[in-house]
Amino acid sequence: MFDFTKFFSTRATSQDQPIPGTSQVPNSAGGHAWPLDEWARLDRFLVLGSEGGTYYIGERQLTIENAANVQRCIASDGLRTLARIVAISDSGRAPKNDPAIFSLAMAAKLGDETTRRAAYAALPKVCRTGTHLMHFAEYAQGFGGWGRGMRKAVGAWFNTKPAADLAFQLAKYQARDGWSNRDLLRLAHPRAASPSHDRLFSWAVSGQLPAGADSDPACQLIVAMTRLKTMTDATAVAALIREQRIPRECVPTEWLTKPAIWEALLEAMPMTALIRNLATMTRVGLLAPGSAATDRVVAQLRDTQRLRKARLHPIAILAALVTYQSGRGVKGSGTWMPVARIVDALDAAFYASFGMIEPSGSRTLLALDVSGSMGCGYVAGAAGLTPRIASAAMALVTAATEPAYTFLAFDTSTTVLSISPRQRLDDVVKTIEALPMAGTDCSLPMIWAKQHGIDVDTFCVYTDNETWAGNVHPAQALRAYRDARGIPAKLVVVGMTSNGFSIADPNDAGMLDVVGFDTSTPPVIADFARATGSDPILTSLERRRGPATAAGESTPLRHLGSKLSWC
Ligand code: CA
Repeated sequence: MFDFTKFFSTRATSQDQPIPGTSQVPNSAGGHAWPLDEWARLDRFLVLGSEGGTYYIGERQLTIENAANVQRCIASDGLRTLARIVAISDSGRAPKNDPAIFSLAMAAKLGDETTRRAAYAALPKVCRTGTHLMHFAEYAQGFGGWGRGMRKAVGAWFNTKPAADLAFQLAKYQARDGWSNRDLLRLAHPRAASPSHDRLFSWAVSGQLPAGADSDPACQLIVAMTRLKTMTDATAVAALIREQRIPRECVPTEWLTKPAIWEALLEAMPMTALIRNLATMTRVGLLAPGSAATDRVVAQLRDTQRLRKARLHPIAILAALVTYQSGRGVKGSGTWMPVARIVDALDAAFYASFGMIEPSGSRTLLALDVSGSMGCGYVAGAAGLTPRIASAAMALVTAATEPAYTFLAFDTSTTVLSISPRQRLDDVVKTIEALPMAGTDCSLPMIWAKQHGIDVDTFCVYTDNETWAGNVHPAQALRAYRDARGIPAKLVVVGMTSNGFSIADPNDAGMLDVVGFDTSTPPVIADFARATGSDPILTSLERRRGPATAAGESTPLRHLGSKLSWC
């Protein structure tokens, strides 16, 4: 008998071929995967961005692909696109807000009349700070000039803020990335909503304190800032900073080497600024073992309510932890002695920033793709934080929630990892960094569990979906596992880059594609793991994922030959 099925079978297909009868397309690595539908890809872009590209897809190409996808979403349903942008931006689910701001600018400039109006209405929700607004102006310029809608919306952004809040925004973010408040106000030319707004606009445009500012409560911050420039006594400077809650950006840099000034700044310091300035405050001597300021910082980092309110993203905390613990700055900003209690508090803050997650109780295999391609690029531009390392941190959140989990690292072979959420994150990072890198076979977690007779209800695979080295596809390996063990096991694919591929079969209700580094991913994994066939959560997740699309355009191979063996 000639075995035709050796070459053509729906049960076992080499990854260099598509599974017959499916919509699989070539991925970037010489393997095959399913194309993501446009809405799932929009989510990936909003959370992961395209900065730095991937191992296979350059930054330029990845940006073009994602922007074209945003445009397709806007054309097919502008309001649905805006709802996604606002949902992901406003809840702080993404490490960076720029992909949301960029997508909003596209909707405002390229959408139909209804979409444009809704996009401008959403401006204050997505652009919450002066920097966000300046980025919006820059992105919008790429799609057209300053029309009436744009002028009105930017003018309203300034006018609808209470005057004291506006003063804070104008003082803290005077200019960013080639844009200043003066530029924005001159172009939008809004009529001031109140005499206080008028004074603040006048200050932002001319740099001079206008008449009546001294006696206007809304102008006290800018009055204090102006006084600060002429002051020479550190005690008086610190007192004024405390009294007017002056942010660091408004303090002349020569004062920023003094512990007393930082101590004053610390009192009203927002969480984001706090974690960014931990190293500086340690270097100047304010944060030291046993100091009162250390107590204060530790208490703030352990304040769960405050963390959530600040929308502090876990990736930002992880980046801060890894840098702070190392004791040296990335861009030559000196060295410091990290305070152990602060490192521990950052570690706890990382887990707390995801909020409460109800465990699913399912037996979970957390499988980390540690292949070469996962070691390329930095998550949200955070130096040293590769997708390979950050996916371990994401998986630890599920490990901290679930009572029964196993960690497995895979490339073209498997390694059981003895990492746990009881370890500090920087130790886990070192463990992952020390693993060798090779090619990619995403079917290995399921094959490994079957070979070793291990009961798994939920496989979570953290990957860039660029699988190519296996003799069967991951979806086929999952079905073989279900048949062999009699367990209706599920597969959650946690996508770690914003490419357009997934190893999850969109026609199998037991497979789900989610976005890595999205703060809502761990609770979604738990919900999906808990759901049964008739469970509304499963069906609603199914619906959200949408129907499978036809084969998309294929991406040409950028790396060939020997390089593939280690990525
Ligand atoms: Ca790979």
